[in-house]
Amino acid sequence: MTQSQGWAAQNATTPLAPYSFTRRDPQAHDVVVDIDYCGVCHSDIHSTRNEWKNAIYPMVPGHEIIGHVTAIGSAVTKFKVGDLVGVGVIVDSCRTCSSCKAGEEQYCEVGMTTGGITLTYGAYDKYGELTQGGYSTNIVADEHFVHRVSPKLNPAGVAPLLCAGITTYSPLRHWNVGPNMKVGVVGLGGLGHMALKFAHSFGAHVVQFTTSESKIADAKRLGADEVVISKDTDAMKKQENTFDFILDTVSAPHPIDPLITALKRDATYTQVGLPDTPPVIFTGNLLFKRRNMSGSIIGGMAETQEMLDYCAEKGITSDIEMIGIGQINEAFERVVKADVKYRFVIDMKAGK
Ligand SMILES: [Zn+2]
Ligand SMILES: [Zn+2]
Repeated sequence: MTQSQGWAAQNATTPLAPYSFTRRDPQAHDVVVDIDYCGVCHSDIHSTRNEWKNAIYPMVPGHEIIGHVTAIGSAVTKFKVGDLVGVGVIVDSCRTCSSCKAGEEQYCEVGMTTGGITLTYGAYDKYGELTQGGYSTNIVADEHFVHRVSPKLNPAGVAPLLCAGITTYSPLRHWNVGPNMKVGVVGLGGLGHMALKFAHSFGAHVVQFTTSESKIADAKRLGADEVVISKDTDAMKKQENTFDFILDTVSAPHPIDPLITALKRDATYTQVGLPDTPPVIFTGNLLFKRRNMSGSIIGGMAETQEMLDYCAEKGITSDIEMIGIGQINEAFERVVKADVKYRFVIDMKAGK
């Protein structure tokens, strides 16, 4: 067994606290990773507080993991000891269904059960063990779900790419965002700020939708060509029928119809946030312009590697605030208040 020291939630209401546990010995295809950095995703808070009603305790959260390989199984071919690597939201899938074979493991047909998608934390893996995430000293994962990370980039800023990065990169690529397209980004948080960077980098004309005038300057710095205050009905009216694609990153309930009417005929609205109450949509706004409504979660393993390689080539990382693990409970409170620019990353070597 591999000894690990993490910070865990023991139930939905008490703060995270130190927790010792073991991980499996590396199997033939496993990589042992000594964790350097872990991003703090809003999902970590929803999960540890059981806001999605599926929590299994004790729970060590964290699925934006960067570290170094310290040991490899006998059949590992992708990595050697010392490599800088990343682990994201999932650590296994069935590998045999049509989605897995298409490299879209996140849509594994077996679903989130043992033998299907295995979440990096808070799930039972095929060995029957409870997975534990990256707020810890190490992780053991199958090489197929581990990614190469270029040492050219600041590794702490790479950590959030494993969730916030791929969650926005994948739909922008899927819907072929590029030059001569007008693209909207709704919300400017951990996901939104990565969407701005990618859409700008792909050559689109990028428009940030926000409810807050205080975000205008930052949105422009991050890649927005224009900023539209979505509460301003006159400003929204001017945007009608002009967008080729809109990516909605907001996970709080919010009005979607005015944003859908901003789309051109045949254009697509994609949601990557998951509001806990379903949005009310006037379907006429879809029908009369043949507009599309879609959703997306993270990305496949090959696409995650493609995204990391793209970021290395273009020098793209997340804007982060670094903390020690001892500050994690305070950081959770600030994430809930959206008081972070734009992602907390835990320096797992810093101690506190
Ligand atoms: Zn996440
Ligand atoms: Zn599958």
